[in-house]
Amino acid sequence: MMYKIFTPLLFVVVLQSSCQRVPVTGRKQLNLVPNSLIQSMAFAEYDSIINVTHVLPASNAQTQMVRNVGIRIQHAVENYMNQNGLAKQIRDFKWEYNLIDDKTINAWCMPGGKVVVYTGLLPITQNETALAVVMGHEIAHAIARHGNERMSEGLLIQMGGLVLEEALKEKKQETQVLFLSLYMVGSNLALALPNSRMQESEADKLGLIFMSMAGYDPSEAIPFWQRMASINKNNTPEFLSTHPSDETRIKRLSALIPEIKEKYYVQK
Ligand SMILES: [Zn+2]
Repeated sequence: MMYKIFTPLLFVVVLQSSCQRVPVTGRKQLNLVPNSLIQSMAFAEYDSIINVTHVLPASNAQTQMVRNVGIRIQHAVENYMNQNGLAKQIRDFKWEYNLIDDKTINAWCMPGGKVVVYTGLLPITQNETALAVVMGHEIAHAIARHGNERMSEGLLIQMGGLVLEEALKEKKQETQVLFLSLYMVGSNLALALPNSRMQESEADKLGLIFMSMAGYDPSEAIPFWQRMASINKNNTPEFLSTHPSDETRIKRLSALIPEIKEKYYVQK
């Protein structure tokens, strides 16, 4: 009995106390999970990945390039956060940049600033500026706390599911299963999917801004994404994918670049 009354109240309290704004874009977002908790989980996960993969040594020329790009973007982000009174948000970051010897075309940045690039990406980036496109994008996910937002959504979906389950208790089992599976599809498509695509475009935009602040020409994003497009043979239909199609992305970035370049690009 208490449950039904308590849940909406809890929602209101939680929602009011957990709205934060994404740096630079100013978008309001929901962060229900303490960032300190997310970071400690991320650091543990990071250590376990580093322990079982082939991390190239600091003396490797390509590792040095990855670290150079990372540190330049990190300093640009830190400057921006300091100047805008947001330093606290990244105070507990433990930045680290590693290159892993693996032919996977990938890179990521965990909450808290742990960045990894796979050697498989380098034939496509081909140069330091294009690497900054990718690393800027990945670092943007961490600065915008997208991981926390995704987890918060997951929690809300689960809590919503519990309320629905409660409401369906009196119905027959088959009806329940049907309703719940529809609910899951509905919550995936209506909530999780558009938001994740929204996070992708936000990371694209922030990434261009951060690389520009670090002295990398954001125009390089276009030839880079064109190279990505040419190797993306098994194109997932866009409507079901969390990533925008390369064509959509290139179009959107082309529209953004002139303004970002004028506003943020500092040639170094
Ligand atoms: Zn992304």
